[in-house]
Amino acid sequence: MKRSKPWPTFAMLMLGIDLGGTDTKFGIVDADGHIVEQAKIPTHAHEGFEKVIERVAHTARELASRHMVQGVGMGVPGPMNSQLGIVYEAPNLPGWENAPVRKCLEKLLGLPVVLHNDANAAAYGEFWAGAGRGCSNMVLFSLGTGVGGGLIINGKLYTGPDDTAGELGHMTIDFEGPPCNCGSRGCLEAYASATAIRRVVREALAAGVQTSIRIPQGEEETFGARLVYDAAVQGDPFAKQVLYDVGKALGIAAASIINILNPERLIYSGALTGAGEFIFAPLRDFARARAFRRPSERVEILVAQLGADAGIVGAAGLAFESFSC
Ligand SMILES: [Zn+2]
Repeated sequence: MKRSKPWPTFAMLMLGIDLGGTDTKFGIVDADGHIVEQAKIPTHAHEGFEKVIERVAHTARELASRHMVQGVGMGVPGPMNSQLGIVYEAPNLPGWENAPVRKCLEKLLGLPVVLHNDANAAAYGEFWAGAGRGCSNMVLFSLGTGVGGGLIINGKLYTGPDDTAGELGHMTIDFEGPPCNCGSRGCLEAYASATAIRRVVREALAAGVQTSIRIPQGEEETFGARLVYDAAVQGDPFAKQVLYDVGKALGIAAASIINILNPERLIYSGALTGAGEFIFAPLRDFARARAFRRPSERVEILVAQLGADAGIVGAAGLAFESFSC
């Protein structure tokens, strides 16, 4: 009997884009969350919406032409309506007020596009292909200049009806705490971000606290937590206390999240995680001491695995979720 040839099989691929104020990253990603090819271009945000989107589309087309890409996911840093594919505004992208991003990109690429907030896309990346792989309920805290994150509930990215869910940095830690950029007071971001650490160190040095930490000339606004970490490793009590307090704030925030959501995993990303047990020991202690016993015993507290690739992997993952048949 003559057998017909089997159909050739093509691995399904999606393009993930992580649009930032400085750089835009691209990744062709397979169905297992592996990056097949990646690229990075400067965003040139000052040129405004149309020029930026045209440049993004140019690189996207180049990459897509070399692969069987079936859809595009993009993470954008700003409030948006992901259903309509509109970015309301983006502080680091001038001219993006009410920008019809999805419609423009779909027209330029001839491919379906799904749009999400960049922090949510990164959270989905860790869930799909990083430290969250295999669980259904997780929360990502990203610790950078500010504190961001995302929620995965029952295997889905939870955005809320206004796409504003997951603003973990603006959870109140101290209701009489310092004012926050968001208009509230005592937010987690005021205790557990690189900005917060810089403020604490500057204030302590000005007050004459004894420490081996020395801020290099001209780096008052930019020095990294590494400076504090290195001093802590040398046994500097002040440096250890600074990192302990960061871990404590994160642990108190974690306890609230554990009680509210009963997540399987809490995952932490960003440069601050490099401080290791100086932060994670108090984080675990305060989370476990303050949350209900059963959910706090269940929850795993982990460091993210995808690093700077979480955004492109997650954006592509969200495209798989939206466009695979
Ligand atoms: Zn706030």
